[in-house]
Amino acid sequence: MNTVTYTKRLTVKRHYDVIVCGGGVAGVAAAVSAAKNGCSVLLMEKSNILGGLGTLGLVNLFVPMCNGRGKQIIFGLCERWARLSAKYGYDTIPAEWRDGEPKEYTEKRYTQRYSPYIFAIQLIEELEASGADLLLDCMACDPIMEGNICRGVITESKSGVEYYSCGMLIDTTGDCDVLRRGGVPTVAGENFFSYFGKMITLETCQKAIDKGDIRLAFSGKISGGSINLFGDGQPADVPRWSGLTVEEVTDYLVTNQKLMLETLRESDRFSRDIAMLPMMPNFRTTCRIDGDYTLTVGDCYRHFDDSVCAINDFEHRDHLFEVPLRTLTRRDFPNMLTAGRSASGGGYGWDLLRVIPPAILTGQAAGEAACRALSEGCGAAQVNIRALQAKLERENVMIHFPDSYLPEDRTVIIHGKNAAEIEGGHN
Ligand SMILES: Cc1cc2nc3c(=O)[nH]c(=O)nc-3n(C[C@H](O)[C@H](O)[C@H](O)COP(=O)(O)OP(=O)(O)OC[C@H]3O[C@@H](n4cnc5c(N)ncnc54)[C@H](O)[C@@H]3O)c2cc1C
Repeated sequence: MNTVTYTKRLTVKRHYDVIVCGGGVAGVAAAVSAAKNGCSVLLMEKSNILGGLGTLGLVNLFVPMCNGRGKQIIFGLCERWARLSAKYGYDTIPAEWRDGEPKEYTEKRYTQRYSPYIFAIQLIEELEASGADLLLDCMACDPIMEGNICRGVITESKSGVEYYSCGMLIDTTGDCDVLRRGGVPTVAGENFFSYFGKMITLETCQKAIDKGDIRLAFSGKISGGSINLFGDGQPADVPRWSGLTVEEVTDYLVTNQKLMLETLRESDRFSRDIAMLPMMPNFRTTCRIDGDYTLTVGDCYRHFDDSVCAINDFEHRDHLFEVPLRTLTRRDFPNMLTAGRSASGGGYGWDLLRVIPPAILTGQAAGEAACRALSEGCGAAQVNIRALQAKLERENVMIHFPDSYLPEDRTVIIHGKNAAEIEGGHN
């Protein structure tokens, strides 16, 4: 038997205006933003906690949210959550930024390292306060399509296989899995040899006690592969995983986890332990939408008429970008959109678009756009952009960066290379 046919008749469990698939930071932002607009919203998350890579994946750092010269660029829900994450957990907000944008010039960048698990629980509170519904341990599977219109999504959970219908669907799985299954064009990525967890050792515990700072207890790192985002030193005999099949995901996890054990074998077993392992693969990218527009480093310093947020380069001072709504949409799939790390970016442009601060802001914009599309009776790509921008501005999002922030020399050098040389050059 080479094939089987499997059919099942399902009742509609419930209808929602907006269904958000994937509860990473982008998904929670999209759900909160749509629910606050008065839409009925369901967020489904396949794991047990919210936050995605930002919590489960142990990537607990808001990368710089400023231009590197004392001017804040990232506001909106991201600013709120960066501050919130410092309320009950530890924080690393620099003294210069503790009370908001510094009055004096500074090159100190505005970042925040947080407790991943405390932040994950705070996200539950944020979601509840917005009025959105939540299903944890619930996998979004196939979207049900009528042509290019999504009517709802099949879920798999403890309750079995179920179906929820919706007016708009936002895919924030990070991997664009639901959109891809619905036939939305996507672009596959590749991942370098990179996987890390957190170690606790007698030394890190001693440091934490000496300094009265619990954060230091978890400052040890244990790696499988430790290749950076530019792929420096990627071994020739190690594959670049796309992460698009279960076999690849398993191979990536097993290879990395075995390597971790290798590094531990020789050390004193009473002196250290693995404190946290990432509970989702540390893939930076598997798949992103082939959107109506693809943001690249060539767009540095460019204003877009349909910008939904301004963002900054987290590695290089001065570099500023605007994110067009079109990076989240496909005109030919009017009621499906994405946000977060599956937004449409190329090469280093994508790297800038996917990190936590922009992921939150694109999530916020996607939630707003989805509600607006429903109330205006149009596709997400066709919403009244001025009204959308005005609403986001009222939510404290910077839509257009001020030209006064631009440097005189606008040559864009990334990681020592000219922008044109690196476009599309890495994962
Ligand atoms: C190694 C590494 C280091 C990084 N370092 C940093 C850093 O220091 N700072 C920074 O800002 N960014 C960093 N990033 C990037 C950043 O963490 C992510 O790009 C960002 O968190 C993406 O958020 P997201 O919500 O778009 O996606 P994700 O965080 O991937 O969230 C997707 C969520 O969807 C869920 N999901 C997936 N499929 C389904 C499904 N079918 N049904 C239901 N739920 C589903 C997942 O469980 C997950 O919770 C790093 C990434 C990696 C991999």
